[in-house]
Formats: sequence, structure tokens, C-alpha cells
Amino acid sequence: MKVHLLTIGDELLIGQVVDTNSAWMGRQLNLAGIQVAGIVSAPDEHDDIVDAIGHCLQRSQVVIMTGGLGPTKDDVTKKAIAEYYGVGFVFSQETYERLVRIFQRLGRPVTEALRQQCFMPQNAELLLNHMGTAPGMWMEENGRVLISLPGVPYEMKHLMETAVIPRLLERFPVAPRKHRTVLTAGEGESTIADRLEKFEDELPADLRLAYLPSLGQVRLRLTATGHSEPVLDRLLETQVARLQALLPDLIYGYEAESLEEAVGRILRERGLRLATAESCTGGYLAHRITSVPGSSDYFLGSVVAYANEIKIAQLGVAEATLQSHGAVSEQTVREMAEGVRQRFGADIAVATSGVAGPGGGSPEKPVGTIWLAVADRERTFAYRLQAGKDREKNIQWSTVYALNFLRRFALGEI
Ligand code: ATP
Ligand code: MG
Repeated sequence: MKVHLLTIGDELLIGQVVDTNSAWMGRQLNLAGIQVAGIVSAPDEHDDIVDAIGHCLQRSQVVIMTGGLGPTKDDVTKKAIAEYYGVGFVFSQETYERLVRIFQRLGRPVTEALRQQCFMPQNAELLLNHMGTAPGMWMEENGRVLISLPGVPYEMKHLMETAVIPRLLERFPVAPRKHRTVLTAGEGESTIADRLEKFEDELPADLRLAYLPSLGQVRLRLTATGHSEPVLDRLLETQVARLQALLPDLIYGYEAESLEEAVGRILRERGLRLATAESCTGGYLAHRITSVPGSSDYFLGSVVAYANEIKIAQLGVAEATLQSHGAVSEQTVREMAEGVRQRFGADIAVATSGVAGPGGGSPEKPVGTIWLAVADRERTFAYRLQAGKDREKNIQWSTVYALNFLRRFALGEI
């Protein structure tokens, strides 16, 4: 069984609202082993919605649509559904009574608009919505199912979880399927693909590998299908072990752990206390570290040392170092990390200094030149990263690298 998602709303087409409904539904359906074959968005226009329903139902056995159900939208979705099936409307007394009860409880007037909302396409089976006023609808014809849900994300999620997914699984049993996600940092997708060429060639037919890249990080998702759960688990474990052997320097965790969570876990396990000194990342590194609940167990604080005089006064960077090597240099970033570690009494420290761009580059230090350093009591590790010209990306990328070097330094890998 395949599913098409159809989201309705002018706001989605003009980029005013991001279609998070599709992303969420896609993830949940996929976790349930249901394949999403396509995602379509349509404007709040009757004819376009009728067309889009036909388009999607031609391609998939199940279509789940969201949006345009509320009283403010002139019930455009419901009218389009009735037109598509060539059916009329019936009044749902049950829905009306429920809405009247809710409105009376809230002390709001029961209006004609509310009554109008209770007319439903004749062939619709209603799905009770405990989170809002508009019920979901389930329509079926010639073995093909159309499901209509409210656009409000928490109402949609509630109906998907309590009604739609359980019912779809009952109606169209799916082959068991399981995922394992291996998390990497420090290399791009193409380098990893090169290192995994043989692994992918040898992957059994019941397993698939997907690359999910983001800045400085790649998630590798293994999917196994077509066996009982214990067999799927064993198949996945075998391949995860192979990935571990092939990418020992890149794998930092599994499933949904973020890099900053992994760093926190390692620092806590080892009883290490951390300080940061940031120039080009301007506090973003500290923000990522402190976004993890409980980070006060291991994070002492940060100095955002943007100006040279702050690097000198607050971190103890030597004036001579700045004069002879410049702020963006190995020498300076080392002194920043060592200085903040000492002054904060931390066990381990990270520092960043770079030309984030888009201006400010020179032939020896072009835009995107970023120095990172990690120091503990015994030694200091420094690394030069060559990023691009996009300021925001450079800040994010160098933060990911700094977190990853911190992690590997704490583990004694670098
Ligand atoms: P209501 O009964 O509240 O009017 P509705 O079914 O008519 O709900 P819409 O009016 O289309 O839904 O959307 C309600 C809210 O949900 C809007 O604020 C909209 O931005 C948001 N929303 C709608 N569709 C999506 C989507 N695909 N992704 C994320 N948010 C969405
Ligand atoms: Mg809408």
C-alpha cells in the first residue's frame, strides 16, 4: 500500500507557513512501515483541490489530506471532496451535539456557522477529534481511501495517532520493517559514500542504506524489511557493526542523539568540566552546548572574545601573538583555549577564531578560514578548517567541527 499526502492552503504555497504536517506524517507513516509515494500541496481553491484529489488517488491507494476544514475557509475541502465523489451532504447530529456542548461549556454563542460546519459529505465516516471542532473524515471507494484531517498540526497529529495509522495498518497489513540510524560528524556525504562503496555493493537485498546529510554531519539510516522482528534486528545489528568498523572515526552516536548531547554524555561520564572561548562563532557553540538539559553538570561558561583587547584581557592571549600571527591563527586560537581553561579552572576547553565572511578575507586568510583548538591540562590540539563564503553556514559548520573535535579529544582519539 502506498500513500500520497495532500496539504491544502495558500499559506503553504507562498512560503508563509512551512508544510510541517507533511514532514511529520511522512516520518510517522514511515516508522509504521507505510510507504509515502508523493507529497502534493494545493491552494484553497475548489477546482484545484478536486484535481489534486484525483491526481493523488490515481497514484496511491491511500491519500491523506490536511487543511481547509474549518469554518473560516468556507468548507472548501469538504465541498471539493463531495464534488470529487459526486455525493451530497448529510447533517451530523452527533457532531452538532458535541460542538454545542463544547461551545456552551466555553460560554460561546451557538451560531448558524457552527451548524453549517456539521454538514458532511454523504460517504464520509467521521473520525472523532478530541483536540478541536472539525472531525476527520474517512472515505472509501473501489478499495481506495481518502482521509481528510484538520490543518492545525496538533489536531492532525492527534487524529493520525489515535485513528488513522492504527486503522490503515488494520485495513492494509504491511510487511514488518525496522530502521537503525547511525550518526556521523566530520565528513561530507561524498567522502562517506566513497568509504562505503564496497559496503553498499555487498548490502543484502532486504536492506537499504540512506544518507541524510546536514552541515558537517551525515545520518546513515539502515532499513530492513520482509522478516520477523528478531530477524530484522539481527540483520540490522550485523550491518551496524560493519559500519562501526568502517567509520570508527566518524560515528558519534545512534538514532536521534544530537552532537551536543553526545558531547555532554562523554563529559559527564568522565567527570570533565568544560569552558569555551568564541570569536567567530559568537556564542553559538555555547548556545548549542547549553541547549541540552542538565548541561550545567559539565559546562562552566564561555567568553565571547570578539575584539583583540578582550582576547588579551579576558583570555590572556599575548599581545605579541596577535601582532605577529593575527587573530585568526593557530597560535591565537591555542592561547584562547588554554587561557579560558586556566582562568575558568576547567578540565577541557574549546576555542574558535575565523573569518566568517562574507567580507574580511585576505590572500593568506581567505573568507572561511577558521581555526579551532581544544586544550586540557596536558596538551592542545588545533585544526584549520576551510569553509565557504556564507557567514551563517560558516558559523554552524565550525560549531559542528568544534563539538566533534571536543568529543574526540575527550575520548583520546585525537
Ligand atoms: P480550523 O478548523 O482551525 O480552521 P483547518 O482544517 O481549516 O483548521 P487551516 O485553517 O487550513 O486548517 O489551518 C489551520 C492552521 O494550521 C493554520 O494556522 C495553518 O498555518 C496551520 N497549517 C495548516 N496546514 C499546515 C501544514 N501543512 N503544515 C503546518 N501547518 C499547517
Ligand atoms: Mg488553510
